[in-house]
Amino acid sequence: MNSAVLAPEKATNNHTESAFPWFDQIDTKEHEQIIICSDPEVGLRAIIAIHNTALGPALGGTRLWPYASEADALRDVLRLSRGMTYKAAVAGLNLGGGKAVIIGDPKKLKSEALFRAYGRFVEGLAGRYITAEDVNITVRDMEYVRMETKYVTGISRALGGSGDPSSVTALGTYMGMKACAKKVYGSDSLAGKKIAIQGAGAVSTHLAHFLQKEGAKMYVSDIFSEKVNRLAADVNAEIVPSEKIYDTDADIFSPCALGGILNTDTIARLNCAIVAGCANNQLDSERQHGPMLIEKGILYAPDYVINAGGLINVANELEGYNRDYAHEQATRIYDTILNILDRAEAEGIPTYEASNRIAEDRLRQIGRIKQVYASTSHYSGRLGELNQARN
Ligand code: NAD
Repeated sequence: MNSAVLAPEKATNNHTESAFPWFDQIDTKEHEQIIICSDPEVGLRAIIAIHNTALGPALGGTRLWPYASEADALRDVLRLSRGMTYKAAVAGLNLGGGKAVIIGDPKKLKSEALFRAYGRFVEGLAGRYITAEDVNITVRDMEYVRMETKYVTGISRALGGSGDPSSVTALGTYMGMKACAKKVYGSDSLAGKKIAIQGAGAVSTHLAHFLQKEGAKMYVSDIFSEKVNRLAADVNAEIVPSEKIYDTDADIFSPCALGGILNTDTIARLNCAIVAGCANNQLDSERQHGPMLIEKGILYAPDYVINAGGLINVANELEGYNRDYAHEQATRIYDTILNILDRAEAEGIPTYEASNRIAEDRLRQIGRIKQVYASTSHYSGRLGELNQARN
């Protein structure tokens, strides 16, 4: 196995290109460390990116993806790990941001040896990075990783972990939606509110049950008719063809399916006062589409804040999982969203910008107080071990 902090850059004759493109990219996004993991015997090519550990160990999933080039893989892991720093910071967690990508075809690459080899690299970081499942990685794959490292979270209930996070994500999304309603309508009641939900999946099913209890009128869509039929029957919602969901006359549009769905075309069609849903990376472009929503008078709940329940759940596992406490923490997303909406209003900035500023303030403030050495004995459970390993 070979491990290097950075792979050597090939010599180039093109003088207009930087001689240090990897460092340039890392500097731009202010990452702490990039680890290249290679084991040709088992086909492992992975990149672990640690963005920021000012608040605690870097946590983020491992994604397996057939990237076309190492530059694509690097770009993705830098972007995703940075996003994790912001998400943990705004959620009030004592965690930093990290992410890992394994390069390859998920149908061909997987083996016990590959995941165990990868686990040894994670173990070698001694708790600076904690991994979890992400795209194309299953519970079984993570079990192999866990054979080589304790720095894994988000594991099944059967193995003593926190299990499926979707109900906690739904609770946070529901509370965030209520906070938006409070801001727009002066009351956080969703009784009688028309809510259009894109996606009838794991999170939206739990979300729809919360909304049904409160007496909301729901419209649901999915690309799979059996899923949408089942959810609509369960919660007494109206079915909308998936391509028509943007045009639905609603108070709240809730994207709970895929990323990148708020773009120039779809925003023009929206007929709502609030966008609040659990999907990741909803804005196709933050800079372009954040302001477009404001121009249309639509309040946007930043995705990485409102959907932080899943991260809260796995973070809770590190201290010894307590479902009630995870729920309580997810409920606080209500206050977090209200703070963001107030700051956006006070500073005349988009809501995603306000949440970024709140994250950066916390990173700065808590990072500064950590300059004072203190005993680590006040930490308990696995997080205590992880912090001790880190310090
Ligand atoms: P899921 O796969 O269970 O549900 C997604 C649903 O969206 C599926 O039923 C799918 O058929 C449907 N869908 C796909 N394309 C669609 C389209 N064009 N129109 C309508 N429906 C479409 O996933 P999930 O776990 O419920 O997660 C939903 C979203 O929330 C994802 O973006 C995920 O990344 C994000 N998220 C989930 C969690 C979690 O705890 N599960 C946490 C944070 C963020």
